[in-house]
Amino acid sequence: MKCPSGKRQYFTKEDAEEALIGSRINFHHNDTSGPINIYECRDCKEWHLTSRGPTHELLCSSEVQNRIKLERESQEWERKLR
Ligand SMILES: [Zn+2]
Repeated sequence: MKCPSGKRQYFTKEDAEEALIGSRINFHHNDTSGPINIYECRDCKEWHLTSRGPTHELLCSSEVQNRIKLERESQEWERKLR
């Protein structure tokens, strides 16, 4: 079912979490913009990213923050070497 919100849908919480982390890596959002959390939609019963509300606990964990930092750095290098 397509969501009336028009937002991209994720079938599982894990997929949405992965997409949330990926979006932090690939788009150079500052800490106050871009998606910061996920939620289960009342309309389509699937998961969406949201830029409102509290920050997801995963994004607050130092393990994930490190991963974001490292992946951003490696992408920087790829850009430079291209
Ligand atoms: Zn929805």
